[in-house]
Order: sequence, then structure tokens, then C-alpha cells
Amino acid sequence: MDRMDLAKLVHGLPKTKLSFWEDSYRRTFEASVLRSHRDGGRLYLVLDETLFHPKMGGQPADTGVIRSEGFRLRVRKVMYVSGVVVHFGRIEQGAEPSPGERVSGSIDWDMRYKVMRRHTAGHLLDYCLSETIGRPVYTVESWLGDPCYTAYKGAAPNETVLSKVQETADRLIREGRRVWIESLRWSELVSRYPEAPNLFRLPKGLPSYRVVVIDGCNAVPCSGTHVKDLSEIGRLNLGAVEESKGFFKLYYDVYP
Ligand SMILES: [Zn+2]
Repeated sequence: MDRMDLAKLVHGLPKTKLSFWEDSYRRTFEASVLRSHRDGGRLYLVLDETLFHPKMGGQPADTGVIRSEGFRLRVRKVMYVSGVVVHFGRIEQGAEPSPGERVSGSIDWDMRYKVMRRHTAGHLLDYCLSETIGRPVYTVESWLGDPCYTAYKGAAPNETVLSKVQETADRLIREGRRVWIESLRWSELVSRYPEAPNLFRLPKGLPSYRVVVIDGCNAVPCSGTHVKDLSEIGRLNLGAVEESKGFFKLYYDVYP
């Protein structure tokens, strides 16, 4: 299905309730089927709510299983289309479920938790880099799948800067700073966190903005799933730095 067909599939449907925003540690959920489209052994499935994080904001899609009595879908891709989440995968058992049918879902937790740790580590690196060079950093993009990196505007940092960044990150992870989510109106966001990165890039006029705060470090508008404490990141290792025209990619990963 291309973007056009996906838009048709979700046309007229209400926005999906994103349950991972309420609790990023939940692994199973129940939901009602709103619409589906079968393509051979594959299925596109829209539910009224989901724990599957779609591929967006640098996060790869969650994978997992959605099932009901006699039906089982192995979820491989999750798309976000105009506020509606579309699950896509292979039918492993049974036929297409009907609208209104109750299903239960479970996400592959190991990968999700790694992405949560990588995502919070990415925000921490933003802070450590900006602290080290003494000015704000601007992220161009990030990818929390394999290989994991953040791309920043500007010239690549030298070895001295990188080792200072690593040192600061190690210390903060050891200290175990708290991480929490705030939901703010635009006026609250700009008055409370005027330093928040990429404020100008946010869509205007939303009823609220979701901000991820690392205690004493930074507050970043973000739609992703995060850990509750920096100590959960474990070991954070900086990898290669790849310089391109006007930006550089800083590769990193997290280990137990
Ligand atoms: Zn983020």
C-alpha cells in the first residue's frame, strides 16, 4: 500500500489512542478493531487504541502480536497516518477480524526497552554535547533502530570534546537522574522551557505539547517512549562520527 492507499484506509476514522504515552512500560493491551484490509496473507489493521509505537520521531516501529480467538497477526510494520495508527503484518492464524471485534496485543519488549534506553540516551547526549561546547545544539534527525545515531548541525566535534561528552554522560547515568513527561500548553512550554530545542519546528496550535524532562539537564519536545531514570540506560558508548555537508552523525549505543 502506498501513502495514498493508506490515507484511504484511515479516511474518516478517529485518531488512535496512543496508550504508550500513558505508560511506556506496558507490554500488553486490549482494543477494538475499527477497520482492516487484507492483501493475500497480509493484513492492515486499525484499532481504537494501541501500544505499538509507529515508525516516527526517529523511533522504529514496535513489533509484536495482535490476536483474538482463532486469529493471530504477527506485526512487522506500524505506520502513523494523519493521527491514525495502522498495524501491518502477516496473518499467522485465522481470518480477518471484523469491525468491533475485541483483540489483545503484545509488543516485543526487548527491542522496545532498548529503543526507550537509546531514546533517553539521545536526549542525554544532546545535553552533554551542548554543555561541553557551551552553546545549544540543533538536531537534524535521529534513528533509534540499528545503527543508532543522532545527526547534529555544524562541524564534527574533536576527540577532546567527545571524551568530555562521554565523561559527563557516564557521570549523569551513574547519578541516576529522574526522567519524566510533561504535557504543556504552548504558552507554558515557551515560558517554562524557552531553551527547549527546535521550538520553532513544532506545529503551531496544538492543544498541548509533550515534553520529556531529564532532571537538571534538559526539556525536549518529543513524542517518543522513554525510561524513568537515567540509570536504566546502562552503559552508553559513543561510536563513529560521520561528517557530512553542514551536519555530522554521532553514532552511539547502549549496553546492559
Ligand atoms: Zn526524543
